[in-house]
Amino acid sequence: MSKVLIANRGEISLRIARACRELGIGTLAVYSEADEQSLHVQLADEAICIGPPSSAESYLRGDRIMSAAEIADVDAIHPGYGFLSENADFAEQCEACNILFIGPRSETIRKMGDKALARETVSKAGVPIIPGSDGPVENEKEALRVAKKIGFPVIIKAVSGGGGRGMRIAHNAVSFTKEFLTAKMEAEKAFGDGTMYVEKYLENPRHIEFQILADKHGKILHLGERDCSVQRRHQKVVEEAPSVVLDDDLRAKMGEAAVKVAKACDYVGAGTVEFLFDENRNFYFLEMNTRLQVEHPVTEYITGVDLVEQQIRIARGEAIAFTQNDLKIKGHAMELRVYAEDPLEDFMPSTGTLEKYQIPQGEGIRMDNGFEEGMEVPIYYDPMLAKLVTYGKTREEAIEVMIKAIDNYIVEGVSTTLAFGKFVFQHDAFRSGDFDTHFVKKYYSPDALKEETEQEARLAALLALKQYLNDKEQLRLPSN
Ligand code: ADP
Repeated sequence: MSKVLIANRGEISLRIARACRELGIGTLAVYSEADEQSLHVQLADEAICIGPPSSAESYLRGDRIMSAAEIADVDAIHPGYGFLSENADFAEQCEACNILFIGPRSETIRKMGDKALARETVSKAGVPIIPGSDGPVENEKEALRVAKKIGFPVIIKAVSGGGGRGMRIAHNAVSFTKEFLTAKMEAEKAFGDGTMYVEKYLENPRHIEFQILADKHGKILHLGERDCSVQRRHQKVVEEAPSVVLDDDLRAKMGEAAVKVAKACDYVGAGTVEFLFDENRNFYFLEMNTRLQVEHPVTEYITGVDLVEQQIRIARGEAIAFTQNDLKIKGHAMELRVYAEDPLEDFMPSTGTLEKYQIPQGEGIRMDNGFEEGMEVPIYYDPMLAKLVTYGKTREEAIEVMIKAIDNYIVEGVSTTLAFGKFVFQHDAFRSGDFDTHFVKKYYSPDALKEETEQEARLAALLALKQYLNDKEQLRLPSN
């Protein structure tokens, strides 16, 4: 493998380019007209423009990306996450053109990309799934029958869903049909597919997912879990590894289940098996993501394994060079997704110019960042600026490093989720480890954030005043 096309943008594109460079592999960036000045274009060996700003006209255009691959004569394509990373047709096109797709086979993506089919596959392999419909439901009447059978509350989901969209909770039969039809409409609009299924809604679950690696020689390993329970609108914002609620036994059991899932779909590469974990410590398969996850750095910190390097090695046919027993979890890692969003305005995207942009540095801090001072945050794409990842020997230490790093992260020109992140990491429920997927809904409000920020400002002012008085005392300035 001598040249890889990176079919993505932002921080993940830079992350993949770094792994390629370390392995002595050349890189080709593709970019839209809005990204001409972006770091991923500047840092790649070569770059080709693939279209206008909108992702439908650029990063989602498999045909243009394939043309770029052929023009530049690349051996492989790394899709990153989002965009074409879980598009089975695109992976199939790569297979047909003899270009390595750095990810699983197209049939695997197809199988796990259909959530109802994934549930069926996983259940047959003996891994527990959340009670629900056997496959997709025909219409709202059948869906209601299933809901009554499994008992309310239920969650109505799109088989092609992702990113927390196309999902609705129904608490009783009266509201069910309306929620079903709304979810279906949303799914049709977002994914071009209104096929739905129904699942029991677990009241207070944690989201715990397992990282797996599988090579082309039949070896499958798991690299422990990540706890991604802190979410807003069913989307992760803070992730950590390991989870405070698992012990070694349960970790081994869930890890084994994750490996079974990977085996059931002939998995190759790096993938993630997501579970919901209930108050009685039962776990249920939620879905499988057949790509690199946004939150992969926390696993890299605690295992010492470079997941992108492993993806590349596996794609070129190498066997995984370590065993399950070699893998040891060491320390604790935290990740905050830093979005250009306004936490005081319902996390509305905030676009504009980064008037000031200084990222934190230091021991135990990893920045996976896609921006620089003076750059524009475009309106066309996901508003994530960077991932702030910290490490400590203990969970407390990782949290302390995180809070200091947030304080040293200076952004002016757009609103960000940094202050929200600090709110989470300082919150007693988070620090105690006693929280679930409702953390944000239960504890967070713009007023709570404002109050905390004001309190901090008051404290800072008091400290400054004290310092001033001390200095004055020491200098023995005449008081008048
Ligand atoms: P997506 O593919 O859109 O990310 P998921 O199926 O992975 O959707 O679910 C995203 C989040 O939605 C979960 O992490 C969890 O917080 C919530 N969720 C999904 N299914 C259930 C369920 N059956 N019960 C409770 N919460 C759920």
